[in-house]
Amino acid sequence: MARARTTLLYRLRSWLHRRNVSVWYDPRYRLPLSGLEASAGMEPRRADFAIWWLRECGAVPPSAVHAPRRITYDDLARVHTPELLESLGRPEAIAHIFAVDASDVPVDEVMTTIRLACGATLAAARETLRTKDPALNLLGGFHHAAPGAAGGFCPVNDVAVAVAAVREQGFSGRVAVLDLDAHPPDGIAACLARDPKRWIGSISGSDWGPLEDVDETIVPEGAGDAEYLEALAALLGRMPRPQLAFVLAGGDVLARDRFGKLGLTLEGARERDLLVATELEGVPAVWLPAGGYSRHSWRVLAGTGMALAAGSAAPIPPDYDPLGARFTVLSREMSHLELTESGELSADELDEALGMRPRRQRLLLGFYTASGMEHALYRYGIFEHLERLGYRQFRVTFDSSGLGERVRVYGEAEAQEHLLVELVLERRRVLSVEVLYVHWLSLRNPRAQFSDRRPRLPGQEVPGLGLAREAGTMLARMAVRLGFGGVVYRPAFFHTAYAARHEFAFIDPERQGRFEALVRDLANVPLLEATIAVAEGRVWMDGEPYTWEADEMAYWLRESPADAGEVERERERVHFSLVEPSSRPPDAP
Ligand SMILES: [Zn+2]
Repeated sequence: MARARTTLLYRLRSWLHRRNVSVWYDPRYRLPLSGLEASAGMEPRRADFAIWWLRECGAVPPSAVHAPRRITYDDLARVHTPELLESLGRPEAIAHIFAVDASDVPVDEVMTTIRLACGATLAAARETLRTKDPALNLLGGFHHAAPGAAGGFCPVNDVAVAVAAVREQGFSGRVAVLDLDAHPPDGIAACLARDPKRWIGSISGSDWGPLEDVDETIVPEGAGDAEYLEALAALLGRMPRPQLAFVLAGGDVLARDRFGKLGLTLEGARERDLLVATELEGVPAVWLPAGGYSRHSWRVLAGTGMALAAGSAAPIPPDYDPLGARFTVLSREMSHLELTESGELSADELDEALGMRPRRQRLLLGFYTASGMEHALYRYGIFEHLERLGYRQFRVTFDSSGLGERVRVYGEAEAQEHLLVELVLERRRVLSVEVLYVHWLSLRNPRAQFSDRRPRLPGQEVPGLGLAREAGTMLARMAVRLGFGGVVYRPAFFHTAYAARHEFAFIDPERQGRFEALVRDLANVPLLEATIAVAEGRVWMDGEPYTWEADEMAYWLRESPADAGEVERERERVHFSLVEPSSRPPDAP
């Protein structure tokens, strides 16, 4: 592992084609919509993952990263109608744009994300006009927003707003928009319709009808790298040389994207960026990520950064886990003292010390104090995210439940305290390894409501927080700090096992094989439908009704004792099928 890392760094540092790329990023680029990941298959941490990787691999030095400022409403008003801008103050309007439930929308925070992205696209345009070096904004390319209508995850049009602002300042050169998102640039075409010196070129996998004054190529559904790159070369051949370019390097060109219909590989997407970067050498250019609705879309964006900064075609290691790497660094920065120090006595603690109330449990797993745990949650960025979801005044408590030690995290919203996280942990031996055993983990967003857009998952009392990956990664860091060999839990439902599947595997190899077969056979069924079908007994294994096996899953921190051969044999042996409600056997419930 260490050697692989060294080799990687060596390879990355030995790149030849260095360019000075400026990068725009803000941690608030993560949309504070807790249901988005589940509903749209979007990776809300895409910009975070991309910047962490670009810094870690050395492609982008810290001095090249700029913090954006929110765009002003004056800037937005050059392009958008007052009616549209006014509507963006209403949760229902934003909920419609992002296809989430209105109860899940903290309006000001969502608009902060969007306005930061727009501010960055404009700042990037000004910077690249000044330096002629490419500029990469890690959020933006909201190409579906028209002057009077938002749509498709695009509340406003950052590209058009940036063009209008630089025009206002006297820039009169030709602007080219190269839209390489998987969908057509309908909003950009509408916004720039009256700009006489604009050229818009696009390659799409979806045909939404003709767009006026757009050089559009519709490639067939599922088109792969070769077909796409051929169309791109032809499009670049027709592009008049611009004085300012915007490149929408969409992440939804990847095969198996939730909404994009193309079939590119990660290598193909990188090849696309390298081709365009070479073509635009010396031309001021703003690069934007646009869409991307798969787990791997961050790799396309990080790849765009590598293509721009270093002309690199080197792949990002497939097993690189950006969140795990980030939390490992943060965890190392936290001293034992910070996590075990209880600080000043609170009023409650004073009462306890005076014997006026019963003493509470002091330490979690004999190590963490409640204030140490609060400190860790703050350092991992969890509290900041919870604040963006509308909670304040966080408080951590420890006590014991029947099963183990219980941690609860509370936060206030609308003058009321809510339970946000509940966790029951135990120190236990599994397969003779001491592990952190998680009896219960519940991530709760009580301000959000269930609806058609956010249906209740089996076992949920209230909607989740969208922080399951952070929770799993934090537990792993805790286990490392305490010297455990792994983290173990028992997923009560298909969706909880599914969410954990990148880090955790069933301890029993045959059970893991059956789980992998289930994931394989239900790959085309939306997760929500799949987990409900499994819970309702509508999934059959080899022709027999299948009952979910809530066996233990482990995240081994040292080596995995599982036998890959046994997993594979079982996976190939069994086959699952979904029984439609109408075709259930007559005696089924
Ligand atoms: Zn798209």
